[in-house]
Amino acid sequence: MVEHIHPIAETASETSAAVDASAANSSAKVNLLGMSETKLIAFFETLGEPKFRAVQVLKWIHQLGADNFDDMTNVSKSLRAKLNLCAEIRAPEVIKQLDSTDGTRKFLIRVSGGNVVETVYIPEGDRGTLCVSSQVGCSLDCSFCATGKQGFNRDLTAAEIIGQVWIAAKSFGQLVANGPRAVTNVVMMGMGEPLLNFDNVVDSMNLMMHDNAYGISKRRVTLSTSGVVPQLDRLSQYTDACLAISLHAPNDELRNELVPINRKYPIAMLLDSAKRYIADMPDNHRKITIEYTLIDQVNDRPHHAHELAELLRDVPVKINLIPFNPFNLSNYKRVSNNALRKFQDILIEAGYIATVRTTRGDDIDAACGQLAGTVNDITKRSERHRARFEEAQPIKIIG
Ligand code: SAH
Ligand code: SF4
Repeated sequence: MVEHIHPIAETASETSAAVDASAANSSAKVNLLGMSETKLIAFFETLGEPKFRAVQVLKWIHQLGADNFDDMTNVSKSLRAKLNLCAEIRAPEVIKQLDSTDGTRKFLIRVSGGNVVETVYIPEGDRGTLCVSSQVGCSLDCSFCATGKQGFNRDLTAAEIIGQVWIAAKSFGQLVANGPRAVTNVVMMGMGEPLLNFDNVVDSMNLMMHDNAYGISKRRVTLSTSGVVPQLDRLSQYTDACLAISLHAPNDELRNELVPINRKYPIAMLLDSAKRYIADMPDNHRKITIEYTLIDQVNDRPHHAHELAELLRDVPVKINLIPFNPFNLSNYKRVSNNALRKFQDILIEAGYIATVRTTRGDDIDAACGQLAGTVNDITKRSERHRARFEEAQPIKIIG
């Protein structure tokens, strides 16, 4: 494992006076980084500037990685001066970059309030998938998820969400040198529940797919949800990205335990809503990705696989099996290789596409569900979990 401390972090700590001054300036300025094209055009209108100027600036930011108006050589000097007075392009700060031996790269990103979120880049052949966070922590508290155990602090802003793509693309030279496309796919599978931060997530995903921004195909941007049904019901009005459902259990009784939001929006309701989402898509060959984290002896038995095959009979799906990734504060164990193979075979025999997600970035704790960052937990949940967990541990006899 190679550990880099990003130069931005070092420079920032050395020049605190300059940072303070720029922070004072920046608070009054409008950050353009998270603005959708429509919002940017509206903002330019308030400055008395035409639409095409907004489009030029949008391209500078997202296609060329600019964070300084003075670099925008095809924008008039007077407009640049105007923008310098009232606006800025401010990405969140990368405090650490961790590179795994398998090519996975994790960014620790500081957002305001003393919080740190995580973004993971996973290269695989000619594909580069970025796993993006949507919230600081998560309020939904799924029993197998490190982010859930961290509690919740706040929603990320659109600038902080699209900023993760901007940072990753830039770190691979995609933007600055107009180099080859490094980020080919995005999955909203980092920290947080994207549908609980609806507007900022939708604006950010639409920038990922927009031709004047990152131009990633709608088949390569995926929103993953544990099932916030009322928001899922609205989603097709705002985006046509792909959909993944974190199911993890074939019946309500078990899912209530693993994914507590199921008590409010049970499986039948969730699958109906997901079916309506893909039915609303203009291209009608879409499949819903079903994510199923396999936990030893909990949801990995052959009868669970048969029940799952039955449950999904009328739903157009592909199934992605995720071996549980252990973390401290959890007593669950990873599925055995035998049980995993058997589970997959049952689904394949029943006619499903069932793939296994390989664990990547193990040496830098970058695997699914291990993203914990530093959450200034306003829910106090992390304390409660730690107390309960420590109580449940057998007393260690030393000597
Ligand atoms: N909140 C959203 C997106 C973030 S979680 C959701 O729940 O879908 C992204 C994926 O990682 C989900 O499928 C989640 O169930 C899975 N995951 C969480 N913890 C995990 C763990 N410890 N091991 C393996 N997968 C995990
Ligand atoms: Fe939140 Fe998703 Fe983790 Fe559940 S699995 S606690 S919804 S991040």
